[in-house]
Amino acid sequence: MSYQVLARKWRPKTFAEVVGQGHVVQALSNALEHGRLHHAYLLTGTRGVGKTTLARILAKSLNCETGVTATPCGECTACREIDAGRFVDLLELDAASNTGVDNMREILDNAQYAPTAGRYKVYLIDEVHMLSKSAFNSMLKTLEEPPAHVKFILATTDPQKVPITVLSRCLQFNLKHLPPVEIAGQLKNVLEREGIPFEVPALNLVARAAQGSMRDALSLLDQAIAYGGGKVEEAQVRGMLGSIDQGYLFALLEALSRKDGPALLATAEEMEGRGLAFDAALQELGVLLHQVALAQTVPQALPDDLPERARLLELAQAFGAEDVQLYYQIALHGRRDLPLAPDEYAGFTMTLLRMLAFAPGEGGAMPLSAPRANPGPAAERRPMPPRPAPVAESSPAPVAEPRSQAAEPPPPPCQEAPRPAAPASAMGFDGDWPALVERLKIGGMAKMLAQHCELRSYENDAFDLCVPEEHRHLTDPSFQAKLKASVDDLFGRSMRLNVSVGAITGMTPAAIQGEERRKKQEEAIAAIEQDPFVRELVETMDARIIESTIKPVQ
Ligand SMILES: [Zn+2]
Repeated sequence: MSYQVLARKWRPKTFAEVVGQGHVVQALSNALEHGRLHHAYLLTGTRGVGKTTLARILAKSLNCETGVTATPCGECTACREIDAGRFVDLLELDAASNTGVDNMREILDNAQYAPTAGRYKVYLIDEVHMLSKSAFNSMLKTLEEPPAHVKFILATTDPQKVPITVLSRCLQFNLKHLPPVEIAGQLKNVLEREGIPFEVPALNLVARAAQGSMRDALSLLDQAIAYGGGKVEEAQVRGMLGSIDQGYLFALLEALSRKDGPALLATAEEMEGRGLAFDAALQELGVLLHQVALAQTVPQALPDDLPERARLLELAQAFGAEDVQLYYQIALHGRRDLPLAPDEYAGFTMTLLRMLAFAPGEGGAMPLSAPRANPGPAAERRPMPPRPAPVAESSPAPVAEPRSQAAEPPPPPCQEAPRPAAPASAMGFDGDWPALVERLKIGGMAKMLAQHCELRSYENDAFDLCVPEEHRHLTDPSFQAKLKASVDDLFGRSMRLNVSVGAITGMTPAAIQGEERRKKQEEAIAAIEQDPFVRELVETMDARIIESTIKPVQ
């Protein structure tokens, strides 16, 4: 099956198709329309916001055979060759993968010669801040006296590392993070045009996880489609992203509103039992608290069709505005400190206990027995409630424990509670990377990185991992750092991860999972087709089986 990844298939080819970045598109279009062309442009912004996409459209605008235009035709040889990435006068360099770009001078020496096929020779240099000093110097010479037929389009995620001498010769455009609502809108658009069924809350989850990057959002969407067997559903996307069933978060906040420590910890334990990622839990708790604050101050800002609207408004009533602000801060700090905690569970419950123990200054609601604004350790020395029985799949809302249990012996204090998922510090590794990945508590892009890695070798606590070229963007240092942290957590010691880009044999966790899901789906389809009742329907009523609606039983 030839499947084109969505990020590539839906890469905008015209300024009109670019999502967000209206200010940049407008400025570039105006300059093109009025023939006010600069010889060097610098596009800045975080990864995946559309820098190279805009650069390629600009290259087409400059070289389209219909003339310099803000609306390149997309049909002429120049446009088509630029879209296909093989136009001789568009020289694309990635400074990140050619560190130093030793042949920079050679490349720039060529700038003096007229373009071969187009109107302009366009140099597109991605991650330009990574050029070596000597490469910058040779570029500077050309920038100072640029031949009329040369245009530079530089792109960087880190403009502060670009020498001021270069910066001052460029027209700079800052591309913005895409807000989740714009990303979700584009995802919806793509799925509708692809004819793939979806649930809107699933798209919101993907949009939020992508953290402003459309490319990441489309990669996650690819993954979600594979994961969901051809459709995008909220529950499956939550599973895939390691994001948290909102039921738990509401239960936590409701327990907090009652100052009910045992219920709070019981919910945390249940989350631990389900293997949920606490980093994601704190992130989503922050999102929820933000929504509660909105409900308190600007309730009309909450969309009417928000499924959890009624519960949010209830919470908004239950808390003072200052409580919510404080809990939000505590959630942010808790998330930041999570990597430093003895383990994630301890970090998470400490954060919850801090919320329980702290109260804002005058006027805020006070917990029954906690000192005011005083972070004394374990301010409320309440014993843990009895461990709740393992809960079935679909019952996130825990039951609050009654406070008085005089007849029962005191349960053990929480520090000594057995930790089922404690890392085995002497854990060995048998070379089964996919099995290891299953045990990692991560979500989002770090999880995608893990799933698209193939293990090349493992020796002395060092993993040599390889990612195929089409997933190069997953090797972002921040994703690698998260993956390493979670591997360290699993092994209980610091491990080394070396992630490179290259050819793989195909035994990545993602490939194996995809194959398993495909088999299950085939079996499910075969079972349906062989069902006598279905066969009769097909034969007598001329009915048709819609295969995408068949879902294997888990
Ligand atoms: Zn054209």
